[in-house]
Order: sequence, then C-alpha cells, then structure tokens
Amino acid sequence: MCGQTADFFMLELIERLRRERTLSPDEFRALLNGCDVSSLVAANKEAREVAQSVFGNKIYIRGLIEIGNRCRNDCYYCGIRRSNVRIERYRLDKETILACCREGYGKGFRTFVLQGGEESESADDAMTDLIQEIRKEFPDAAVTLSLGEKPTASYERFFRAGADRYLLRHETRNREHYRFLHPEAMSLDNRLRCLGDLKRIGFQTGTGIMVGSPGQTVENLVEDILFMEEFRPHMIGIGPFLPHRDTPFAQCHAGSLAKTLLLISVFRLMHPRALIPATTALATHSPEGRELGILAGANVVMPNLSPAGERGKYSLYDRKVSTGAEAAEGLRLLERSLERIGYVIDYSRGDSPLTTDR
Ligand code: SAH
Repeated sequence: MCGQTADFFMLELIERLRRERTLSPDEFRALLNGCDVSSLVAANKEAREVAQSVFGNKIYIRGLIEIGNRCRNDCYYCGIRRSNVRIERYRLDKETILACCREGYGKGFRTFVLQGGEESESADDAMTDLIQEIRKEFPDAAVTLSLGEKPTASYERFFRAGADRYLLRHETRNREHYRFLHPEAMSLDNRLRCLGDLKRIGFQTGTGIMVGSPGQTVENLVEDILFMEEFRPHMIGIGPFLPHRDTPFAQCHAGSLAKTLLLISVFRLMHPRALIPATTALATHSPEGRELGILAGANVVMPNLSPAGERGKYSLYDRKVSTGAEAAEGLRLLERSLERIGYVIDYSRGDSPLTTDR
C-alpha cells in the first residue's frame, strides 16, 4: 500500500459500489489489489456515511458469554481446537450463565450472545433448557447463539426454545481453501447446509470470514464477497486472522489491519442494513482497532460478559483482549471511547432491520 493521492479509478469504484451496491468480479479484484492508503480512507468514509444513514451515530452492544471451550472440531486456526491439549477445558453451568445475563441485563445489555466450542448433540437438552430460561427471565432481550455446526433438528429446537439469532462464519467460500483451514471431517457443503438451515428456520443469521487467514487469496475474497451478496446475511463478522501458539498455524502472520478495514467498508457499502461488529480480533490486533472498525462502517460492539476467571481459557488466538472497553464491566470506557469519535451506545435489542433492502 503506497501512494499519496487516491487513485481516480479506485475512487470511481468505491463511489459506484456505494451507488449500485455491487461491482463485477474483475472490479472487486481491482479494488482489493489496488486500494492504497488514501483510497482506503475514502472507502471508510463512504461506508461510514452509509452506516450513519441507517443507524445514525448509534452503536449496538451485545454481551458475549463464552459458555465453554470443549470442542469436537479441529479447525487448524483455532486455539480451542480438539487437538490442543495445552488448554484447560471448561463448561459454564446454567446458573453461572444466568448470573452473567443478570449482570449484563443490569448494565443495560439487551442481547446475550452464547458462544462456545462445538459439543455433541447430547448437550442439546441442556442448551434448549438454558435458552428457555433466559427467555423467561429476560423476555425483552435477544438470544444469539454461536455454537458452530449442528444438525438441522438441533437448530430447529434452539429456535423453538426462543433463540433469535445465530452467528456462523462461512470462513471461506472456496472449497480448496476450506480444506486448507479445516480437517477432512469438516466440509464446506455442511457449513453451507447449516447456513441455509439457519436462514430458513428464521434466525437472523450472521456469517463472515477471517481476513488474512492462511492461504487466503484475493480471488478467495472475491468469492466470499459474491457469496455474501447472494446469501444476504443479517450480520457480518469480519476480523483479522490472529495466530494461536498451539495450532498448526502458529507461525502464520496476522491478517492486515488495512485489509480488514477495507473489507468492513466493502461489506457496509454492499449491505447498508447489516449488523457489522467491530470484532474483538480487530481490537486485539490494534489498540485503535475498535474505533477504526466503527469509522470503517461497523455498528456493533460485543463486550465480554463471561466470568472474569474463565476468560483466559477461551483463547481462540493469542493475547485475545477481554478487559477494558472490551469487557462488560468496562462499559463506561467503551462509552468514552465511542464518544471521542462521535458515537453513542444504543441500549436497545438492535434487531436486524434487514427486510426489503433491495
Ligand atoms: N465454534 C464456533 C464459535 C467459536 S469460534 C464457530 O466455529 O462458529 C468463533 C469465530 O472465531 C470463528 O468463526 C472464527 O472465524 C474466529 N476465530 C477462530 N480462531 C481465530 C483466529 N485464530 N483468529 C481470528 N479469528 C478466529
């Protein structure tokens, strides 16, 4: 990335992306390859304006509860993968999770995101019960799940129990790249089946990618962009890949901040009403990551609401931040950091406004 004045061709692409909400594959490729610093600044500004035209200067907050790190999968990038014998495994019980919700509710959270490793279907009964309990005690709060790939019937049960939203990043739409990131037992087809199920069942559905995941090419990113254009997710999770020391990708480089910010803006320009978080990975990557994500078009922050003593065990990647403005108890800090860039917290449930977007 170099150059002082924004390339005229890049500016033209960015403006057209804003106007028409799409580009040709060649143009996306050109944008991803040719975006210099000043074009990035322009893309971020356009995307920020689009986000503000839909959401004003409001940022939604979600209380993230990391309910456990036991996982049957073995994704090569993830620190809680099954083969990692160097972490202490845990699973929060129902009362602990409800206590987290109570604490969060008192602070003003109206969405609880239950995220965790992938457990077998034998855990479905307990999960269904938990969702029902949260619904009963906090009827005006939304329940978001981020529990990975499940059989259709499990998703249906969770939805009937009262879960509203589900986050499942597709990670990559390219078959070879998917294989490069995941072991044989997992497949892109099953991931896409899950995403199709979730939307059909009625969940507000989120998907997304890690930017700069090992082996990712510009071509792959174009495929991701086109896939998401067609899928039209309600939520889009975009964060940089960050290495974890106990994974096969320990020696790989972190994804680039600039490329992450560019992709947030591209997705915002294409999906004006989508809920796009400034992710924890972005905040971990760079001290200003959260603010830069918002200024690139993100409109959601997910502070950590897990019990402080367990947070270190939910280590998806090295040095994951879970304190300060990234923690529920740091809401004042978050408020101040948002204020500095002209934003305020919106304490409502913040459901997806995505209905007849096009
Ligand atoms: N098991 C669930 C939820 C936990 S992982 C699932 O897979 O959906 C949640 C997200 O964290 C993943 O989708 C992935 O995109 C991200 N993640 C995992 N390892 C990461 C890493 N090393 N760097 C950045 N993000 C990572």
